[in-house]
Amino acid sequence: MLASILLLASCTGNKKTEPTSENETDATFEYTVDKFADIEILRYQVHGFNELSLQQKELIYYLSQAALEGRDILYDQHNKYNLTIRRTLEGIYENYFGDKNSEEFKKFETYLKQVWMANGIHHHYSEDKILPEFSKEYFLHLANSIDPARMPVKDGASASELIEMLTPIMFDPAIYPKRINQAAGVDLVKTSAVNFYENVSEQEVDAFYNKMKDPNDNTPVSYGLNSKVVKEDGVVKEEVYKIGGMYSAAIQRIVNWLDKAANVAENDQQKQVILSLIDFYKTGDLEKFDDYSVLWVKDLNSQVDFINGFIETYTDPLGMKGTWESIVNFKNIEATKRTAIISDNAQWFEDNSPVDKRFKKEEVKGVSAKVITVAILGGDCYPATPIGINLPNADWIRRDHGSKSVTIENITEAYDKASLGNGFAEEFMWSNEEVDRAKKYGSITNNLHTDLHECLGHGSGKLLPGVNSDALKAYGSPIEETRADLFGLYYLGDPKLVELGLVLDGEAYKAQYYSYLMNGAMTQLTRIQPGKDIEQAHMRNRQLIATWVLEKSKESNAVEMKERDGKTYIVVNDYEKIRELFGELLAEVQRIKSTGDFEGAKNLIETYAVKVNQPTHTEVLDRYAALNLSPYRGFVNPVYKLIKNDEGEVTDVSVSYNESYVDQHLRYSHQYSSLPNNN
Ligand code: ZN
Repeated sequence: MLASILLLASCTGNKKTEPTSENETDATFEYTVDKFADIEILRYQVHGFNELSLQQKELIYYLSQAALEGRDILYDQHNKYNLTIRRTLEGIYENYFGDKNSEEFKKFETYLKQVWMANGIHHHYSEDKILPEFSKEYFLHLANSIDPARMPVKDGASASELIEMLTPIMFDPAIYPKRINQAAGVDLVKTSAVNFYENVSEQEVDAFYNKMKDPNDNTPVSYGLNSKVVKEDGVVKEEVYKIGGMYSAAIQRIVNWLDKAANVAENDQQKQVILSLIDFYKTGDLEKFDDYSVLWVKDLNSQVDFINGFIETYTDPLGMKGTWESIVNFKNIEATKRTAIISDNAQWFEDNSPVDKRFKKEEVKGVSAKVITVAILGGDCYPATPIGINLPNADWIRRDHGSKSVTIENITEAYDKASLGNGFAEEFMWSNEEVDRAKKYGSITNNLHTDLHECLGHGSGKLLPGVNSDALKAYGSPIEETRADLFGLYYLGDPKLVELGLVLDGEAYKAQYYSYLMNGAMTQLTRIQPGKDIEQAHMRNRQLIATWVLEKSKESNAVEMKERDGKTYIVVNDYEKIRELFGELLAEVQRIKSTGDFEGAKNLIETYAVKVNQPTHTEVLDRYAALNLSPYRGFVNPVYKLIKNDEGEVTDVSVSYNESYVDQHLRYSHQYSSLPNNN
């Protein structure tokens, strides 16, 4: 499970022109790399990389190569035409010798940048198909003016035929309108554009997996995590992602790099982790994936760590299929002292939470938490990335072996640094008091909220015996995120945090409470197009919490929406009372989860989380537009190079930060693209 950034705002930076070395000081590091459509691209710094041992640097290098080799898999998972479309666009972009400064070509370039950001033709966040702003005729003109050999044209076919095939998929709003469809009452499998299912209905998929599941199995595998479900000659079956199976070519290359990584592992335990992952990729056997996950969660000694595989299931309308992702990172030892304090006190937090005793864990196991520095982002973590991760996702592994939770601090640093002084806080906060508090405590309380969300929130509570872990179905994800967020919010305001030395000041939590409510009730709507509902799980959870608390505040007036000079603001009158309300809602959400109360989940989500308040939405969009900020952000990765001596031995690994967004994606498409157009 992952956490994403709360407050999205950006500065209008200049495009980077000068190369950057790691020795460069923070003051001159330019965080903003590119800006287009509703996106701003940032870069992040890998603090402390040069201080690692040569062996650790080499390990990071091989793992980072493995992280980049899976890029094509994600494109294909998102939609079966994505690789063909990306290759067509890139073929045109690199080989067109006409006017590249024309307005139409700029629109074409923007569309290509959007496709890279989304790893496909659907918006990475809203899930809606991105519609090109250039014309179909211009698209055909571009395609016809370049050598067909530069594009993914089938043997004997012409560029025109390729464009004819792709045009409706790209331009027709009725074809593949949404990456995942969550609307109630329709076949979610048939109406979603993702490539996890073909020729099957939702009912057939349910029946297929229900037959496999054994209700008495106490340690079930994550059914369907690494496969596509298809129907051939009337028979429903899985095509498994593995060497020799689906995505074989990319997985083979991932495994080759993992082999090299295993040879420079920090210790034997870590080597076993890598070897067991290789075993999984070779067989596609989900029991082996669980073996790997258990080994991985127990490896707490290594400084370098990584995620690589089919992990998160947010992009499957049925919540089973894992999208491919990778992150390579190393522990930030100084900052990890903070999360160590939290996890050392995990039992205290569990015992003192406001939820019913029946739903609490008697014994909280193995909550390990650390602050990490990311070295590379890949697959579903790139270009848009989470700021915190808690894995593994399998409930029984979490129950029996615990989970590893991370806060990604060099990413939040980039967000914070790029946002300084962009006018966002001044526009949307009620008074200087809130703005000053945000400047003083915003970063630390944001990081703490992520720590609490990831290392305590997701790991807290338990299901009553006999309750199925997917009883809440499509409402499961937003309810789970709501639960984790509330756990964090409730404890942010607890004097225990001051006692533990995590914050110096008992007032600090107010910064997060204010920005959370403001974001959930108002400013996150900058990410929603006029007239649309909220779909994304984290956004649903934030609106749920904020609007529920606003409604429950009607009598006490703890928080209200006030108007001044025609603008609406969140005004908090009683922070203590808000904390009580967070606790009250946490108790209810935990009850829903623990008892598998589908109707309760549905009622909360549909009442508070989905529909947008139209007048507020219009106002927020107008005020936001006036600031000229981008509602979404993505990242470019640094570039690592092996330095070798005359004998060919590796003597060092260099890191540099001078690659542009366009250059990086074109390079990745040349260097790490092994899959055929159709898989
Ligand atoms: Zn989460």
